[in-house]
Amino acid sequence: MTQLSTRLGIFGLLASSAIVVCLAAEGVQVSSGAGGWRQHDIHRPKPPVVEPASELIAAKPPRDAVVLFDGKNLDAWKSADGGPAKWKVGDGYFEVVPGKGTLETKGKFGDIQLHVEWAAPNPPRGVGQDRGNSGIFLMGQFEIQVLDSYQADTYADGQAGAIYGEFPPLFNASRPPGQWQSYDIAFRRARFDAAGKLLEPARVTVFLNGILVQNNEEPFGPTSWLKWLPYTDVGDRGPITLQDHRHPVRFRNIWLRELPERPAPTTEQLARPNVITLPDTVLDRYTGQYLLNGDSGGAKATITREKNHLVVTFPFRPQPLVMEPISETVFDMPFTDGRFTFRKDEQVRVTGVLFRIGDGERDMKKVASQTEKTK
Ligand code: MG
Repeated sequence: MTQLSTRLGIFGLLASSAIVVCLAAEGVQVSSGAGGWRQHDIHRPKPPVVEPASELIAAKPPRDAVVLFDGKNLDAWKSADGGPAKWKVGDGYFEVVPGKGTLETKGKFGDIQLHVEWAAPNPPRGVGQDRGNSGIFLMGQFEIQVLDSYQADTYADGQAGAIYGEFPPLFNASRPPGQWQSYDIAFRRARFDAAGKLLEPARVTVFLNGILVQNNEEPFGPTSWLKWLPYTDVGDRGPITLQDHRHPVRFRNIWLRELPERPAPTTEQLARPNVITLPDTVLDRYTGQYLLNGDSGGAKATITREKNHLVVTFPFRPQPLVMEPISETVFDMPFTDGRFTFRKDEQVRVTGVLFRIGDGERDMKKVASQTEKTK
């Protein structure tokens, strides 16, 4: 049980609801898998067959794409052993030369959008995993299976469109051997802290021939056959590798776009003025109705006092929104970047408020005080 506890602890780090640890009969190694399935379980239901659109329109690379194969040469690739790429380049495509080894990109990439087109050998040969097998490894770690799965059977988590050995595709959207098929993949790499502890697993979304087959799945470890491997911090980038499974699978039109990290706000950007406390008598001066537009018959915002703070209600947003004073005349909205700046006349009567949110400003004239409204 010590081993199991240790394993559970590791899985706990992965923070994935898909991870279930199964304890088999005593003496049998504990296994785990997406949705509780053991790897390559032949009883795992096969994804339903769906017919993709009849025409494959080769997606042209966007202008900012990193083109990894433009139909001419393998300049962007090398053999995984470090030597030159030894696969065959044909007319607009390249092809696995069985036994010449894995291909990997010279460049390294992290979060990407990746487009790949591929075709299984025609006429087809072999069965199961021995039929048009190759694979696309993201950061060299996570295999998106390439396989001739058209009217061809194999275990569910090994089909075309599978995150190999982990997640079957949601659908079998395969085309017949010899026909070009497309993958469009969104990949977000795993995140680690400075000590190498996993903070966030990788995430993978895959479209096969335009059909969504992996919906933001979280691999529970790098692709591995018959054994679970933990996440390890291999850095922010890695190569894309193509598998030599000794089948002459063809590839063409490969490009990617690197995806930016969403910028987090700085402490300075998050800083807000201190919220102050105003007496109820001051707050009550602001309560009333305010015209959203110049038209006196138009929609109005209503400001009321709830206990010791103000709330505003817009006709298109009926839930009252809290207003927090940062000075006697300026109120901020927690959660948003909205701000109300009240104005007064010479008699210190509140005449209106300037409401600013995002890139918009709305000058709202006060038309009724709370007491007038409730008369
Ligand atoms: Mg493969």
